[in-house]
This record gives sequence, C-alpha cells and structure tokens, in this order.
Amino acid sequence: MDFSTLIRVYQELEKTSSRLEMASIVSDFLNRVPEGELPIIILFIRGRIFPAWSEKELGIGNKLVIKAISNISGATEATVENRIRETGDTGLAAEKLLVRKAQTTLFSEKLTLGKVYENLDRLTSLTGKGSQEKKISYISELLSFAEPAEARYIVRLILEELRLGVGEGIVKDAVAQAFKVDPKLVEKAYSLSSDLGEVARIAKLEGDEGLRKVTLKTGRPIEVMLAQKIANIEEAIGKFGKTAFEMKYDGARIQIHKEDDRVELYTRRLENVTKQFPEIVKAARENIKAKSAIIEGELVAIKSKKDRHPRPFQDLSRRIKRKYDISEMVKNIPVEINLFDLVFCENENKTNDEFKDRRELLEKIIVETDTFRLADQIITDNLKEAEKFYKNALDLGHEGVMAKNLKAHYQPGSRVGYMYKIKPVMETLDLVIMGATWGEGRRAHWLASFLLAVLDPDTDEFLTIGRMGTGFTDEEFKEMTELLRGEITEQIGKEVKLKPKVIVEVAYEEIQKSPTYASGYALRFPRLVRIRTDKGPDDADTLHRVEEILKGVAA
Ligand code: AMP
Repeated sequence: MDFSTLIRVYQELEKTSSRLEMASIVSDFLNRVPEGELPIIILFIRGRIFPAWSEKELGIGNKLVIKAISNISGATEATVENRIRETGDTGLAAEKLLVRKAQTTLFSEKLTLGKVYENLDRLTSLTGKGSQEKKISYISELLSFAEPAEARYIVRLILEELRLGVGEGIVKDAVAQAFKVDPKLVEKAYSLSSDLGEVARIAKLEGDEGLRKVTLKTGRPIEVMLAQKIANIEEAIGKFGKTAFEMKYDGARIQIHKEDDRVELYTRRLENVTKQFPEIVKAARENIKAKSAIIEGELVAIKSKKDRHPRPFQDLSRRIKRKYDISEMVKNIPVEINLFDLVFCENENKTNDEFKDRRELLEKIIVETDTFRLADQIITDNLKEAEKFYKNALDLGHEGVMAKNLKAHYQPGSRVGYMYKIKPVMETLDLVIMGATWGEGRRAHWLASFLLAVLDPDTDEFLTIGRMGTGFTDEEFKEMTELLRGEITEQIGKEVKLKPKVIVEVAYEEIQKSPTYASGYALRFPRLVRIRTDKGPDDADTLHRVEEILKGVAA
C-alpha cells in the first residue's frame, strides 16, 4: 500500500473529533486494507509502530529528527529548531521545510507503507558505536522519499506524537463494523490476546466463529481484571460472605508469562519489562513448577531482602524506566513480587475457574522464596478478624486490603465487582493553576497540561506541586482553556505562565517529597475533580495542609 493512502486517512481523521465519525472512517479504510497489512495498519492508525507488549521500541528523540530534517531540507539545525518553536510541532516544521525541496525535486520514488515500517523497524536494532548516524540516515531516507505532507506524519509517528484521538475503543468498533462481527467478541478476543492486529485479521478471515476461538497464550499479555472501590470491610463481607482478604501492596501489577525456560514480564499497560527485572525472571524460571503459566502479582520495591518494608512507588518506577546498567539497579533497589492470581496453566485457560480454585492451583505450583511469594491472604466472614488484617496491612506500610469474591471467575479487562479495594480515604486539595502547556495535534488549540500550586500563607507565594494533564474530557479541556486564556501573562514556546486565579479541586494517589517543585512535594497521578469557580486564590490549600495530610497518612 502507498503510504499516501494512509496519510489521506490521517487527514480525514484530523478533521473530526466525533468518535462515531472516526470509527466509520477507520472502518471504511480497514475494508480496503489487504489482510497482510492489517496488523501494521491497526498500529499505525493509532500512531504506534509496535504493540505495547513488543520488546521493540523506537526511543527516538527530537534531536535526531532535527538532524534528519536538516539533512534533507538543507536548512540548518537552528532553522529547524526555530520552525519547531514557531509551529509548536516538529511534524509541521518538517512539512514546511520540505515544501521547498519538493518544488525542486523532479521525480521521486513513491513511499510505501512497507518501506516506512521497514526503516522504523531497523531503527530498533541499532545500538553502540555509529548507531546514531545510522538512525539519522534511516530517518533521512524516509524523509527524502516523502511528500511534504507525508513528512509531517512520519515525524509525528517517529516521535510518537500522532495524537489523532483514535483510541483503542474506536479501533475495536471499527473492526466490528468493517468485518460485520459482534463487537462483544472483538472485545473479548482482544482482552485475552491484546493483539488487535491479529483480532482484525481473524475477524476478516473467520468472522465471529474465529473470534470465539481466540484464547490466552503465553507471550501475549492479558488485559487485567480491575478492582472497584468499596467503603469498608463490612460492606465487602455483606456482599461476598466468606471473603478472601489480601494485602493491597503498593507497586506495579505484573503478569509473568512462562513457557518452559522462557519468561516474559508485562505491566498492567501491557508493556514488556522483562529486561528490567532479571531477578524476577530467574525466580519465575526456578519457582514456577509448571511448564506454561500466566501469573499475576504486585511488584514492590523493598528496603532489603531482610527488611521487606515497602519503598515509595517512585523507586520502583525508576527500575521500570531504566533500560541500562540493570545489574546496578538490581542491587540498589531490591524488589519482591507478591503473586495473587493465575489465569493460565499447562496450556489451559483458567479464567473461567473460580478464584478459590485459581488460588489453590497457584499455591500448588509456586515454591515461595523471600522475594517471590504469594500475596498474604485470609479467608473469613468474621468482621473483627478481617479488620485486624486490614489494620495490620496499614501498619506494615501497605495501601490497604483487597477483598475478593471466592466464587468469581476472572473477567479480563473489566471492573466487574469481583474484587474490591479498601484503603483510607485520600483528601482532595484545592490548588491554583500557575501555568499550562498548549496541546498537540488535535488538541493544539487547547491548554492541555496544568501546573498546580499551593499557597504559602507566610509569604503569600504560590509554590508548585505538580502537573495535571489526564482525566479530562474534551469538554473540560475546552472549559479550562476558555477560563485560563485571559490569565496568560507570558508564553515561551508552548509553555504559558498564568495569573494565579483559577482554583481546581484535585485528587491524587499520593503525596511525595520532590525536588522538582517549589513546594518540595509532588502529587502522584493528580486528576481533576472539579473546577472551583466558587473559590479564589486566597482559598487555595496551604503548604501546611499538605504536610498535615502527609503526616496523617504516614501515621
Ligand atoms: P487500584 O490501582 O487502586 O485500582 O487498585 C487495584 C490494584 O491494586 C491492582 O491493579 C493491583 O495492581 C494492586 N494490588 C495490590 N495488591 C493486590 C492483591 N493482593 N490483589 C490484587 N491486586 C492487588
């Protein structure tokens, strides 16, 4: 397929923000895509080159792209950088700079989808000496073949900044529409295989019947079952009767896939993190007594193998992000994994088994060590006993407890109420917005990421405490932009400074110490609860309150 065919679809998608319209554009397109190219198209349409679970990743920064644009357009790197600053988008800058080149080129080879994929795939295998130059030359080659409009999207693809707003849901709907299959079967097949390209291919070739046969396999992460919130232990027992209570460890959810000696680790977002945790890979190889298995657990950074006290999430996050000098990280930030579920064993899908049976089988096939262990669990309908367990969980520094229905099967990708989380309620904060960043792509005209601050009543200064950019609907982005537009005092690139006027109520997962922000603290996962039009900057929460909350929670 010519790359320009895909570009026309990108351009159509860019014109709309309607979910339905997007799904129908994608569906029409999928109907025209030859089956061999479906898996690539399914990724490219969302701005991805490789599936999340693939070990391959591009990791190309702006710098290399700027060099490639400069090579091909003849503009200096400084000119390219200026253009990026003016347009706020490296893709647009490339398009503009390449227009001149296009006028002077008499003919060029047509760029195909296959060629774009091939060059991007090659980028992933380059390491070591001379690899940067090679990477630049592969990118330059693509840009040299590209029409200016194609260059815009190639650059956005490489930088993983396509942002057309085509989410996974839209693509799933489009697959169902295009191949006239049951959307529920698409959903189910995807939640078991996490491979939308393969699901699309099966939908096209084998229809509903083929989709029904899709099942779990090692090496393809499953979409995990999610927990709901419940107010307290009593309610959980009221719902389930005899309930499995487990420690709620505060770390990262990991699925371990074992097939003979081959072990892969995936996060909840289906990212492959096998390389980052060699000690878990080794433990899984040695201590899972099954030829094939998919097991879930919570990975936690701990003080030491002897003192298993949990360390802050940011330590674990450092390990997840780190792709080099792994052995040093293994030493400096030890981890443990607390295993809590089993969804596949000896080539059999166990998601339809009851939790009680899954846990029993898990216990049977695991040899526990200090750091490769089963999640602590009690089974009871006695309120006192359960509350003691909960208190103990908090005393040990864990987040709370999980309450699980012993009779429930495993429902991939859903929040069905088979397990509940119980943890102390986190108080929200009223914060001032001090700055923001203009969005990209479809969101270019909206402020998209907001710098939050608390009040220091001693000095009347506002001290930054984090950035919030997720959890907004399109409507809320628009509303925030309209509210804040009049408060802009300065703009540098895409960053704007704002008069401290607008107050937002913000929820978050945790408060952490942080040198990044002026307050000395950072909010983990801040999200908008509501815009407090009833409050002014003087009503913002103070640094003192942040410290109180932190003490209260830590106590
Ligand atoms: P939350 O992220 O607040 O929705 O809480 C659910 C998460 O708690 C799960 O996705 C797991 O990552 C984590 N978790 C920690 N301990 C357990 C456990 N024993 N069973 C299930 N999930 C757990």
